[in-house]
Amino acid sequence: MEITNKYDLPEAIIRAISVYNYAPEEGRYSVTDLVNPPRMRLLKIRHWRELSVDASERLWALFGQACHKVLDMAAPPGSTVEGKLIVDFEGVRLVGKSDLYHQERVEDYKVTSVYSFLLEDGKTKKEWEEQLNVYAWLFSRLGKPVKELWVRAILRDWQNSKALQDMSYPRIPFQSVQVPLWPTPGQERYIRARLEAHRIENPQCSDEERWLRPSSWAVMKKNNQKAYRVFDNPWQAENLAKTDKAFVVVERKGSYNRCENYCPVRAVCSQAKGTKVVNLKERG
Ligand code: SF4
Repeated sequence: MEITNKYDLPEAIIRAISVYNYAPEEGRYSVTDLVNPPRMRLLKIRHWRELSVDASERLWALFGQACHKVLDMAAPPGSTVEGKLIVDFEGVRLVGKSDLYHQERVEDYKVTSVYSFLLEDGKTKKEWEEQLNVYAWLFSRLGKPVKELWVRAILRDWQNSKALQDMSYPRIPFQSVQVPLWPTPGQERYIRARLEAHRIENPQCSDEERWLRPSSWAVMKKNNQKAYRVFDNPWQAENLAKTDKAFVVVERKGSYNRCENYCPVRAVCSQAKGTKVVNLKERG
């Protein structure tokens, strides 16, 4: 995958980003590959040389990697830092790199947005839970038992002004969240199911994997920026709009956010090109 530099970023940044630009290999699965949509990995393998990504899209990932490096240097005595975990299982190689193993606890550092936490109501994202449970399984296969899983998150877009106004907003730009630890047979079942999914010949991504944002209909008062109310169907919005001449209905079109903005294979993915979000209105 070529790293382009449309915004003329400094050479050191481009070189640092290139260090983490690995081609996927058949028969070898990183934990991220395993958890991510099978179609994404398959298209990466098939089209690696045709793909490109601009360095500007990798800046936050680079920032996260820099944080990991510094935190590794300050790891508590006796911990295993960024240990590479390699387990051969059912004909493939599973490879993980957890951030910290200490006192039978696996800790994963994330540099992420406040939204990731608020959206999930203080819980962790489903894919983080899956990822950490695969790490736990890898550690236990390597003779290191795991009793707890933790996400330690630095919130890169945290704002002091919001913390002062909103009690549900994180107090500081940091959150620690314990992740449910599944029983070992459940972890193994999950890994088997993912490997099965990755073996399908032409896998399709689900709406959830494509990060579907459904369409919505906002009832706005003329000249107001903020919606008076937002509905997930046009009929309710239009009924409310009939009650006051000052109201107008504005459709906010849905999208597949990952396909449109984040997926590294979106340029070669026929599923992303061939579908659009079907609005309730169009379904009639
Ligand atoms: S572009 Fe969308 S549909 Fe295609 S692999 Fe990526 S997430 Fe899946």
